[in-house]
Amino acid sequence: MARPSTPGFACRECGWTTVKWVGRCGECQVWDSLVEQGAPTSKVTAVAVSEARAARPITQIGTESSVHRPSGIGEFDRVLGGGIVPGAAILFSGEPGVGKSTLLLEVAARIAQAGARVLYVSAEESAAQVRLRADRTGALRDELYLAAETDLATILGQVDA
Ligand SMILES: [Zn+2]
Repeated sequence: MARPSTPGFACRECGWTTVKWVGRCGECQVWDSLVEQGAPTSKVTAVAVSEARAARPITQIGTESSVHRPSGIGEFDRVLGGGIVPGAAILFSGEPGVGKSTLLLEVAARIAQAGARVLYVSAEESAAQVRLRADRTGALRDELYLAAETDLATILGQVDA
C-alpha cells in the first residue's frame, strides 16, 4: 500500500514524518517530538441564505435561465449544445497557439454585439495585447470590457462593477 503524500505527524526536531503518532522519533530518537500536520486550520460556518438563493422544490424551479445563447459561430455553439448557458462554467482547452484566445475573443465580441455586456478577463496577456488582437480580428465592441487580472477577489469585484 502506498504511503499518503502528506503523512500525519512530523518531528519538530528533525522533520522525520510518519503516518501514525509514536512517542519517540524514529530518526533522532527524541521523545514526544511529533506534532500533527495537515490538520484543518479553519472551520466552515453556515451562513444565512438569501431568499433568492434558497433551495426550492424542484417543481418550482424555472428553466428560463438555462436557455442557450448562441454565439453565431456554428461549431462553437454545436459543441455547447446550442450556445452558452448563463451561469455555466466552461473549460476550454487546446494546444498552445491553436487559437483559444482568438476564438473566445470572437465569441465575446459577438455576444457583446448582440446586446449583452461582456467582461473578458485575461490572466496571461495584458489588456493592451488583447486590444491589439481585437483590432486585428475586428472584435472591437463598446460593450466588451477588458481586464488583465489574476486575483479572483478582484475579478469578482470587476463582475459586480
Ligand atoms: Zn526527529
